[in-house]
Amino acid sequence: MSQPPLRRPDWRTALIDPTPLAPPGFRSLAAPVYRGSTTLFEKARDLRDDWRGGAMPYTYGLYGTPTTLELASRVAALEHAAHCFITPGGQAAIALIYLAFCSAGDHALVPESAYGPNRDLAFGMLRRLGIEVEMYDPMLGDGIRALLRPNTRLVWCESPGSITMEVQDVPAIAAAAHAAGATVALDNTYAAGVFFDAFAHGVDVSMQALTKYIGGHSDVLLGSVSTCDARCHEALGEARTLLGMGVSPDDCSLALRGLQTLGVRLDRLEKSTLAVAHWLQARPEVDRVLHPALPTCPGHDVWQRDFTGSASIFSVVFDEAWRGEALMDFIDRLQRFHIGYSWGGVTSLVTPCFGLNRPTRDYGDRLVRFNIGLEAVEDLTDDLAQAFEGR
Ligand SMILES: *Cc1c(COP(=O)(O)O)cnc(C)c1O
Repeated sequence: MSQPPLRRPDWRTALIDPTPLAPPGFRSLAAPVYRGSTTLFEKARDLRDDWRGGAMPYTYGLYGTPTTLELASRVAALEHAAHCFITPGGQAAIALIYLAFCSAGDHALVPESAYGPNRDLAFGMLRRLGIEVEMYDPMLGDGIRALLRPNTRLVWCESPGSITMEVQDVPAIAAAAHAAGATVALDNTYAAGVFFDAFAHGVDVSMQALTKYIGGHSDVLLGSVSTCDARCHEALGEARTLLGMGVSPDDCSLALRGLQTLGVRLDRLEKSTLAVAHWLQARPEVDRVLHPALPTCPGHDVWQRDFTGSASIFSVVFDEAWRGEALMDFIDRLQRFHIGYSWGGVTSLVTPCFGLNRPTRDYGDRLVRFNIGLEAVEDLTDDLAQAFEGR
């Protein structure tokens, strides 16, 4: 059925016509940034609102644009996952996982060594919603059996743990959790999705703060949630849609750029970090270095068994004589290390972590976390040396 031609539009109308006027055929090496809330359908009968994608993956901007889905697909490929959702940050990824799997009356387990805001969410908002979260010793391995209950829905792992760096026996914990019918989630940020193969070790859902190594330049906040399991994918997709967790394609384009250099950055960061960790371990002011590749780290043997590399973050427990105020002054004397949260970028960072209030491993006011960046190693060790000697 041919339609009658319309008269030439008013210039205002012409300005709004979305038909592209630039010539087609552009190809480049950069990932294009597609912005869009509304996505268009050919026919009225095609119209539908569905996060599941499939034959027509673009039904609404919230569920993805070619830019956000490019990042999701690349993170999934990196982690050997079947599905991946990009979230507004790592903490949003953690919240999404809790809300996808836990309901009022459910029980969840989280290691003492989990990222602080994960535990804050668990013992704050989730408790208010009637979800009971219990902390466990990250080194308990198969001993987690004793803590599993008929209503345990979710078991978190984070390996190595935040700040205290315990490497967990994830396969043992996952086997016990699965036998009890619980879903296993892993905060896999340290491994950048590459140093630990979550799904080969029994994990159901792996999340990362892409803010760290994938972004890699301290200028973007994003997270990811990956899975191989159709049931988990369904639960996560449903919850993400209900929570309205959209991400900016501009931010995703920064993460896509970050992915291109992830290999060289991780190679260099691993070497530099080991060099600085060994240098610190040899200092008389240092009691103990908590780096997964050093035997002084809890779970070092598990790291050797399950990991293919180490990353840029580690902690140092200082000698008694260097605790508290003396340690604060030491940090303030550093000139090349900067003081601040987050990690995985190009800049070396340092944060005092006093009074962790963890039942099993606390380290009082003697623990400092270091993130090593891409500076020359000697410049960093020179800086540490002058800060020790300045006392
Ligand atoms: C930083 C971090 C997060 C949270 O990521 P954001 O993007 O800052 O929300 C989660 N887990 C771990 C282990 C982290 O270090």
